[in-house]
Amino acid sequence: MERTFCMIKPDGVSRNLTGEILVRLERKGYKVLGLKKMIISRELAEHHYGEHKGKPFFDGLVTFITSGPVVAMVLEGPGVIAELRKLMGATNPKDAVPGTIRADYATSIDENVVHGSANADDAQREIGLFFKPEELVN
Ligand code: ATP
Ligand code: MG
Repeated sequence: MERTFCMIKPDGVSRNLTGEILVRLERKGYKVLGLKKMIISRELAEHHYGEHKGKPFFDGLVTFITSGPVVAMVLEGPGVIAELRKLMGATNPKDAVPGTIRADYATSIDENVVHGSANADDAQREIGLFFKPEELVN
């Protein structure tokens, strides 16, 4: 059993896609252990996306992810880390396979609706950044 961190980004929340996306994840069979709507501080955003510090898109990415409420969650299921990335689709929606969340709902690489941890180390780190252990209920 694995856990991963997933987030509906400000564009997804403001476009009222939260329900649509949660339906897909729940129907796939993942258990939602933690779920909260929140506004990310600049500090948290810079930690979360720390691997991208120094890249040309970093400032814009931090500004975007802090621009409005997100819905943060922890998902549990067998193979959920890699599977969520498949369900999300490619980072650039233009490259995303139809049927994936980004192909179906996003049009721009800057505003691509969802985040999912890239690997087990990131999943553990990101869950810890966004949730206290007691906020995760099975
Ligand atoms: P996320 O981490 O948000 O789930 P990802 O893992 O698919 O997305 P990353 O490489 O981690 O992609 O990049 C984080 C975010 O930075 C992307 O979602 C995208 O919005 C932005 N980004 C990544 N690469 C580029 C790029 N070459 N040009 C512009 N924006 C980019
Ligand atoms: Mg990433």
